[in-house]
Amino acid sequence: MLPVSALRAALLDWYDAHGRTLAWRAPPGSPPPDPYRVWLSEVMLQQTTTPHATPYFEAFTARWPTVTDLATAEDSDVMAAWAGLGYYARARNLLACARAVARDHGGVFPDTEAGLLALPGVGAYTAAAVAAIAFGRPANVVDGNVERVMVRLFAVGTPLPAAKPELKRLAATLVADDRPADWPQALMDLGATVCRPGRPLCEACPLTGWCAAFASGQPERWPLKTKKADRPHRTGVAWVLRDGQGRVALMRRPDKGLLGGMMGLPTSAWGVSPADAAPPVAADWRAAGAIEHVFTHFSLTLTVRVAEGEGDFVWTDPEAALGALPTVFRKALERGLG
Ligand code: SF4
Repeated sequence: MLPVSALRAALLDWYDAHGRTLAWRAPPGSPPPDPYRVWLSEVMLQQTTTPHATPYFEAFTARWPTVTDLATAEDSDVMAAWAGLGYYARARNLLACARAVARDHGGVFPDTEAGLLALPGVGAYTAAAVAAIAFGRPANVVDGNVERVMVRLFAVGTPLPAAKPELKRLAATLVADDRPADWPQALMDLGATVCRPGRPLCEACPLTGWCAAFASGQPERWPLKTKKADRPHRTGVAWVLRDGQGRVALMRRPDKGLLGGMMGLPTSAWGVSPADAAPPVAADWRAAGAIEHVFTHFSLTLTVRVAEGEGDFVWTDPEAALGALPTVFRKALERGLG
């Protein structure tokens, strides 16, 4: 294999010419970005694509420009602004972390991986990413894109996710003191735009001279796959109740459990037959079709029923509700509003 220093130089040269321009990013070679922006973007990007996360990032940083601003925000405002990004535990962790930085660190993020890791809700990946990108520490930052590049570069024979520890170890062999902030971003960009899932664009890759998968002639064979267990399917009912002013009945969900603490439509439990679901109030309920939604651990068919009525709910203008509800409820409300 050619020397690691040459591999690094080839990828960093490619990054200088082809790196992505992202809302939270400083261009290659410029002063490091605000740690708050790096941290916020990394939390948002977990399980979310870059195009989907970008408008949320812009809205958050316009409304809460510093970590101290975010720390003083109302929980309900942050949860509503997060609606649609999914994985709502991240929003609760986000607030806990912002408040710890404001309270315990004078509004300044710790500048080491260990210091960042001690913050609430900050895991190994986020600590490494912020340490490298915001503070120029030579940290080993391994996300899904970097894993895929490592799998192919070294033609790793173990399927994911079992290969993860090995991939992290292999990625660590390429970390060095030179341009520590640009290195992980260069690897991520290569994975996102060239060494893509499906067919990699090896003809545009600066690493062909090092890549074992490329040398095999069939780089798309990696990563090797294990058969996925089928995702279980559940059913339930969402109730779209409107009052005499056209407002929609919403409820805050219990803090614990799926979509905990978020506003939602009244629903049955998820896992009951629609025929067995008891409505939240007696009314002339009418069928309004159904929506499909896929969560990480199950898929859901939610039957939608609509009626006019009254009750002890949070009555909300439909437009405001559509902007603030998690995606599954937004879909159900859209269906209920016809
Ligand atoms: Fe990925 Fe192809 Fe580059 Fe190898 S040569 S790292 S498979 S894009």
